[in-house]
Amino acid sequence: MADTTRAARITQRLHPFGETVFSEINRLALEAGAVNLGQGCPDFDAPRFILEAAKEAIDTGHNQYPPMPGTPVLRNAIAADFQSTTGLAVDPDTEITITCGCTEAIAASLIGLLDPGDEVVLMDPVYDSYRPCLAIAEAVGRSVTLQPPNFSLDAQAIDSACTDRTRAVILNTPHNPTGRVFTRAELEALAEVCRRRDLLVLADEVYCRMVYEGTHISIASLPGMSERTVTMGSLGKTFSVTGWKIGWAIAPPHLTAGIRAAHQFLTFDIAHPFQHAAAVALQNREAYYTELHDTYLERRNLLCDGLEKAGFGVYRPQGTYFVLCDHSHLGQPDDITACKWLIEHAGVAAIPPSSFYADPRDGATLMRFGFCKRIETIEAALERLGRL
Ligand code: GLN
Repeated sequence: MADTTRAARITQRLHPFGETVFSEINRLALEAGAVNLGQGCPDFDAPRFILEAAKEAIDTGHNQYPPMPGTPVLRNAIAADFQSTTGLAVDPDTEITITCGCTEAIAASLIGLLDPGDEVVLMDPVYDSYRPCLAIAEAVGRSVTLQPPNFSLDAQAIDSACTDRTRAVILNTPHNPTGRVFTRAELEALAEVCRRRDLLVLADEVYCRMVYEGTHISIASLPGMSERTVTMGSLGKTFSVTGWKIGWAIAPPHLTAGIRAAHQFLTFDIAHPFQHAAAVALQNREAYYTELHDTYLERRNLLCDGLEKAGFGVYRPQGTYFVLCDHSHLGQPDDITACKWLIEHAGVAAIPPSSFYADPRDGATLMRFGFCKRIETIEAALERLGRL
């Protein structure tokens, strides 16, 4: 009965969120021997140059605590990379913090920049850590739902969701799980609301190198936005090292101070050798980015075509390595039941996205497949789906 004692329990803040959908689906997929297109996790190894750089960093003594904000060499590399894509010059000493993946960048931003009761506008569906992190920060989420088939960003709806307690908007582009890459016009309309209402923007841009249609735009690069934006990125998606957990937050000094106030007590430091490898990875990789794009475009098309053939209603993504589908043809009542059914009857695992919505019913007809997998893995999944 230990779980009913005051000493052993999950707090009221976090109890509603249960186990993450990623852990649950991984467990069910493993038990059933399913082909796993669920969690956004490559089933192939990272490029050799980054693995060698990590080994070299370990062999050359980069094994003790690095500086709390991150190694200067990595912060310089991120500043150069950010300037090359946005034209913005940032000071690595006062405007960049290395975090434990983008997930910690989000947590540290919310904890370090918001006060209890502050409101934050979310564009549902949102990555599943946003809401629990808001709960930890004792902030309040207000959701605006992106509607299929286009999942357009509706700045007017965001404006209407704001109150005098609203402090921030969380933006994710390219967007997980819809695959939307928001346009300049959509971002300009959002920027106008943020300037007028004096809001912060927490911009999660971890899929910025995976864009197949349209162009990725960092909202920080729009007029009047760099002083109110935290731009968050990571190494894991771009270099297929999701297990290294190297992320970062780029923000003006007055916001970086808040992020670091939280970061120093959350994790203090991020794995030192991987920071060195990350700095090597980020230097002059245009050829690598082109290859990554081409590889993922091929996989996106393979998976989307196959899912369509298998009867799914496919929302073809403009970016990310995910595709959101309508599963109505399976005749299941909701996304969780449908995903469990698919694991059992087809031996294929996908993510039920209802936990990405404030109202789970908004995601009930949807299912998310990932194509950050080898061609053979995608083909094996499609072969199984074809037999249904
Ligand atoms: N970001 C990845 C996804 O959306 C993995 C998340 C996780 O495992 N917590 O699938």
